[in-house]
Amino acid sequence: MGVEVPFLDVGAAVAELRAELDQACARVLDSGWFILGREGQAFEAEFAAYVGTKYCVGVGNGLEALHLILRAAGIGPGDEVIVPANTYIATWLAVTYCGARPKPVEPVERTYNLDPERIEAALTPRTKAILPVHLYGQPAEMEAIHRLAGERGLLVVEDAAQAHGARYRGRRVGGLGRAAGWSFYPSKNLGALGDAGAVTTDDEQLAEKIRALRNYGSRQKYHNLYKGFNSRLDELQAAVLRAKLPHLDEWNARRARLARLYLEQLAETPLLLPLIPEGIEPVWHLFVVRAPDRDALQAHLRQEGIETLIHYPIPPHLQPAYQDLGLPPGSLPITERIHREVLSLPIGPHLSEAQVLRVCAAIRAFYHLPPAEVP
Ligand SMILES: *Cc1c(COP(=O)(O)O)cnc(C)c1O
Repeated sequence: MGVEVPFLDVGAAVAELRAELDQACARVLDSGWFILGREGQAFEAEFAAYVGTKYCVGVGNGLEALHLILRAAGIGPGDEVIVPANTYIATWLAVTYCGARPKPVEPVERTYNLDPERIEAALTPRTKAILPVHLYGQPAEMEAIHRLAGERGLLVVEDAAQAHGARYRGRRVGGLGRAAGWSFYPSKNLGALGDAGAVTTDDEQLAEKIRALRNYGSRQKYHNLYKGFNSRLDELQAAVLRAKLPHLDEWNARRARLARLYLEQLAETPLLLPLIPEGIEPVWHLFVVRAPDRDALQAHLRQEGIETLIHYPIPPHLQPAYQDLGLPPGSLPITERIHREVLSLPIGPHLSEAQVLRVCAAIRAFYHLPPAEVP
């Protein structure tokens, strides 16, 4: 059987906005200006307004956004940064890029996010920052993290790459720390047509330093204050993001409707379903369930033409790339169990309720349950 329910149809978002995207690209082509121009500036202003921060600086991708924040804040060799053990490896790489050491902390088992109660034990005199991730689109426990950071004078930086539009106690993520790093990789809730990223912050000095660092360390052409980088958001991607941003809330609302349907239809199955803590508005970048028999379930769904993915199959501490940290299998047991059991079901603004019902029926059949009543 071919694919009946794709994991995420990125092309459908392009099709929905094709006319607007054509116009946006034409505007850039007609301008004859492709790097650091009007579109980038306009997107920065529009995205800052959306997030609710004073500043936004467009950069080349999400990893560079995090790297440039940490670097501009002075993180360097000898420093340690608290990172979630359970995250995409980019969070850790941003720390490594600065010459600092990522110090992984286990998540809360049910929310998958950094467990504030476990941070204390990981702190050392070298700890300089905490880098929580709003994983799968669900905001991390920012109040508890800030309490700890405040007592010790630690920097708090958000990895918001999976959480465009999510709210924590009424406030949008991206303005909940000193700065936040964003990715607009095509499959993110707000995605470009290539690589793109941004930093949001209320800190003017930090924003100005990142603005220079992304452009060879220069504020004025051919005058270099820092040994900078080349990591700029280009005009085409900025124009595409400007066309998509006004649709983000509606697209997130569609994801939330599908998530509610999954939660209803899968309630009686043995699956561990996502938990939404009080005061949290997730944006369902991923809909992640846990199943002890995950691989068999995934194979069954594949046979039924349903695409699923695993986020993520191998945690960063067990990757060959991070063997130098000396964290053997078994050293982060909660994270390792999560990696063995998680399965991401199809979700996205262009998936239909009928497709979600098909996924649910197939899962229920796997567990010998009759199809649920259709709402
Ligand atoms: C996607 C992602 C990144 C990296 O973003 P890129 O634009 O791909 O560099 C960083 N952190 C998390 C949690 C992500 O999901």
